Amino acid sequence: MSSSTQSFDLIVIGAGPGGYVCAFRAAQLGLKVALIDKRAALGGTCLNVGCIPSKALLHSSEHYAFAKSHAAAHGIKFDGVSLDLSALLKKKDDVVTKLTGGVAALAKARKITVLTGAAKFTAADTVAIGDQILTAKNIVIATGSAPVELPFLKFDGATIVSSDHAINLPTVPKRLAVIGGGAIGLELGSVWARLGAEVTVVEFLPKIAAAYDDDIVRAFTRILQKQGLKIEVGAKVTGYDAHAGLLHAERGAEKLAFPADVVLVAVGRRPYTDGLGLEIAGVALDEKKRIAVDAHLRTNVPGIWAIGDVVAGPMLAHKAEEDGVAVAEWIAGQHGHVNWDLVPAIVYTDPEVASVGLGEDAAKARGVAVNVGKFNFAANGRAIAADATDGFVKIIADAQTDKILGAQILGHNAGELISEIVTHMEYGGSAEDLARTIHAHPTMSEAVKEAALAVSKSALHAI
Ligand code: FAD
Ligand code: NAD
Repeated sequence: MSSSTQSFDLIVIGAGPGGYVCAFRAAQLGLKVALIDKRAALGGTCLNVGCIPSKALLHSSEHYAFAKSHAAAHGIKFDGVSLDLSALLKKKDDVVTKLTGGVAALAKARKITVLTGAAKFTAADTVAIGDQILTAKNIVIATGSAPVELPFLKFDGATIVSSDHAINLPTVPKRLAVIGGGAIGLELGSVWARLGAEVTVVEFLPKIAAAYDDDIVRAFTRILQKQGLKIEVGAKVTGYDAHAGLLHAERGAEKLAFPADVVLVAVGRRPYTDGLGLEIAGVALDEKKRIAVDAHLRTNVPGIWAIGDVVAGPMLAHKAEEDGVAVAEWIAGQHGHVNWDLVPAIVYTDPEVASVGLGEDAAKARGVAVNVGKFNFAANGRAIAADATDGFVKIIADAQTDKILGAQILGHNAGELISEIVTHMEYGGSAEDLARTIHAHPTMSEAVKEAALAVSKSALHAI
C-alpha cells in the first residue's frame, strides 16, 4: 500500500451541515480545503438520516392522513385509499439522494477535496484516513452526534430501534412505543401513527416537548391525542418484554405496561467522537463529553476547532451551519459572528411548534417582568379557510422596554412563521415594531401581528 501526505489550509472532519457549510465558506474565502466523512454521501446525519428523511416522511404521511380522514370534509372523495409503504420510503430516499448529490456537486464546483473514510488524529495538525495522511494548520471537528442507547434496551434495528431505523421500517408496526417525547419521538411517532400504527409516547418528564411553555404543551398534547397518539408522561421505562409485546414502566409506585411490537428509543443524542484520536491530539472534553470550546469555537489545542452537535448548544442543523460559517471566517481572518441566543427550534408535527428566545415560563422563573400577547388561529381568516385553526401565537416582550424577548407558536407552518420574529429580534425590535409592520391579508402571519398587538392589549380581531 502506498502512503501519501497532502497539505491543506483547512481540514474539516465530518460533512454534516456544520462541516460541509464550514468547508464551503472556507473555499469561498480562498482556502484550500479537505472535507472528510465516513459516509460516501455528504450531508451528515441531517441529510442522510435526520432532518430531511424525517420531513419527507412527515410530508408524505400528511398527504395520506388527509386523503384518508380529512379530504371528504372539503368535498373530495377518494375510493379505497391505500398505502404503498415501499413507494413512500422510496420517495424519501429519492429526496435524500437529490440533496446529498447536490452537496457533492457544490463541493466539487468549489474545488474542495472530498475524502471518504474514518479520520483519526495522528498529531495536532495531522489526520489519517487509512493510509492517507493529511496535514493542515487548521482542523475543524464536525463529527456530530449519535442516538443515545438505554443500557437495558440495546438497539437491534428491528424491535428496539433508533431514529436511524425508524425512518425505514419495512412494515407499519401494529403497535409502536416511543420512548421520549422530544422532537424525534413526536415527529416519527406522528409519521407512524398517520400510517396506521397504534402509537404510545412514553415520556419521563411531566410533559412532552419540555422546552415549551405549559400552555403551548397543554394544547399541543390535546391535539396529538386527538390525532390518536397516546401520551404517557411522568413514566420511567424499566424494560421490554418482547415475548408479551409489552414495554414496562413505572409512575411512582404505579406499574405500567404499554403495548409494543416495535420500540423507538428517542431519548436524545450524544456527541460523537468515537475513534477520532482526540487523546492523541490532546483535545479536551467537557463534563458532558462534548468537545470543550471557547466563545470562538476553539478547542484547547491551537489550530483545532469544533462545531455543531459535538459541542455545547442545541443540536440543530441551522445552529451547526452558523457555527461552520463563523469558524471559516475566523480562520480566514474575518469577523465571524453567531447569535446563539436566537436559535429557533421547531417540532415538525402538524400543527408544528416553534420557539425562539425566552419563553413566558422561563421569564417568570428568572423573575424577568414581561408582557405577553397571544392570538388564536381560530380568529384568523386564512387559518379558517385552510382548516388550520388549531393553536396560537404568543409573543413575550420586556415589560419596560417592549423589546421582544421571545416567541412561541403552535400552529400550521409555525416553523415558517417564527422566522419573521427571529429577524425582528435580531435587530432588537419591539412588539410595537412588529405590530406596525404590514402583514399581507389573508395570511396566517397576521396572527403574529395580532399577537404583537396583544402585547399592549390592542389586538384588533380579538377582545
Ligand atoms: P452531523 O450531521 O451528525 O454530521 C457529522 C458527520 O461526521 C457524519 O456524517 C459522520 O459520518 C461524520 N463523522 C463522524 N466521525 C467521523 C470520523 N472520525 N471521520 C469521518 N467522518 C466522521 N435538526 C434540525 O435543525 N431540524 C430538523 O428538522 C432535524 N431533524 C432531525 C431528525 C432526526 C431523526 C435526527 C436524528 C436529527 C435531526 N436534527 C434536526 C438534528 C440535526 O440532524 C443535527 O443537529 C445536525 O445534523 C448536526 O450537524 P453536524 O454537522 O454537527 O453533525
Ligand atoms: P430530545 O432531547 O429532544 O428529547 C428526548 C426526550 O426524551 C426528552 O423529553 C427527555 O425528557 C426524554 N427522555 C430522556 N430519557 C428518558 C427515559 N429514560 N424515558 C423516557 N423519556 C426519556 O431528543 P430527541 O428527540 O432524541 O432528539 C435528539 C436531538 O436531535 C435533539 O437535540 C433535537 O433537537 C434534535 N432533533 C431536532 C429536530 C427538529 O429540529 N425538528 C428533530 C429531531 C431531532
